[in-house]
Amino acid sequence: MRDAAAARDAPASFASAVDGYLRGQGAPVRMVFAEGRGYGLVTTRALVAGDCVLVETPLACTTTYAARARVCARCLLAASQAGSGEWALACKRCHHVRFCSAHCACAARAAHDGVECAALCALARAEAAGEVPTEALDLVVSTIRILADRANGHVSRPYPAATDELSYWSYAHRLQSVRRTKRTGEHIRQAVVASLRLLPPSARVPPAELFDVLNRHQCNAYGVTGARGEERALCSFAGAFHLLNHSCAPNCVFDCVPLRGSVAPSTSHGDRALSVADAPLAASRDDERNGPPLFGIFALYALPAGAELLHSYAKSTDGPAARRQYLLDHYAFECACIRCEVEAAGDVDLSLDALRCAAPECGTGLTIPVLTVSAIGDGDDGTALAAGARTRRVRCVHCGRDGAAGATLIDPMRP
Ligand SMILES: [Zn+2]
Ligand SMILES: [Zn+2]
Ligand SMILES: [Zn+2]
Ligand SMILES: [Zn+2]
Repeated sequence: MRDAAAARDAPASFASAVDGYLRGQGAPVRMVFAEGRGYGLVTTRALVAGDCVLVETPLACTTTYAARARVCARCLLAASQAGSGEWALACKRCHHVRFCSAHCACAARAAHDGVECAALCALARAEAAGEVPTEALDLVVSTIRILADRANGHVSRPYPAATDELSYWSYAHRLQSVRRTKRTGEHIRQAVVASLRLLPPSARVPPAELFDVLNRHQCNAYGVTGARGEERALCSFAGAFHLLNHSCAPNCVFDCVPLRGSVAPSTSHGDRALSVADAPLAASRDDERNGPPLFGIFALYALPAGAELLHSYAKSTDGPAARRQYLLDHYAFECACIRCEVEAAGDVDLSLDALRCAAPECGTGLTIPVLTVSAIGDGDDGTALAAGARTRRVRCVHCGRDGAAGATLIDPMRP
């Protein structure tokens, strides 16, 4: 994040903790600190488009209020992906959380039963009575999970082989915050008031502490977006994802399709060490959905060693005015990236549109190159491929669809 004042206040052990974390994961990135910009991540070697640069399991992950019946609360699978409108399997008490399977329902119980379920029952009543502002609902649901995790003493491992354990206290120790104006902080204040009312007294914390935690959560949260730009879930990450800085012309992207297996950027697979882009794809196809969701950050373009990785905090489909408003409201800064400059000058920049998902029912996601391993042996053009041949394709980070690679491997932002 960008707040230099907050960065300087971080514990001295923070930098070495993050370095150890990145090395342990085998990630091709290191952390840097720049005066006026705060922490950021730069590449330690040249990357090709589609390389996985980081993987991480969220510290807290909750479905959005509007999508709660359509998205599995455990693995985030959308009912539409199984050909249905809503998931039928719901928590019998609160009916708020829904699941794709008995397996996910069972796996979610430890985090959901008790504090969270009771607070979500209270939320249903408060929402029906019009007591919770609509714009604060998603943050209220996240807050209930954050404080339920705290009450349960929940700790999470940010990637499968991690030795780090993250918990409620990681919000204060690892996440940057930004100083907000009264206006940009209003939805956070509303979420503090509403959540503390809904939670059982034993799970509450002082309002000022919660305001600080939510400030940190909100300016580090990732939205999980599905086809048509539907917001499915809100995730907070405290391992390393939160260290990525913003550009409206990003060079890496958060893949909204969770990786289902135990993969890390250094994973090798089969007869050769695959490009890191390959391993998560193979895992997402083959492994059962048995763990909490694991997400990846992927390079959109080929990048040299030493390049700062930048992803877009705002919706990349939005125009300059909508992005500007969103970044001010949620992250409290004015963007001065190259795309904002170009668009402010009246030039239309179509570089990101070249990477846009071609599926007509999606259209919002950026695509990343993936290597697929051919089992049957058919190429896109119908010619026979040897079994095991690798073909270039692209996959959408919103709807997850594979498509043929077009002219999408060129970086149009480069001179
Ligand atoms: Zn599920
Ligand atoms: Zn429940
Ligand atoms: Zn910008
Ligand atoms: Zn798509």
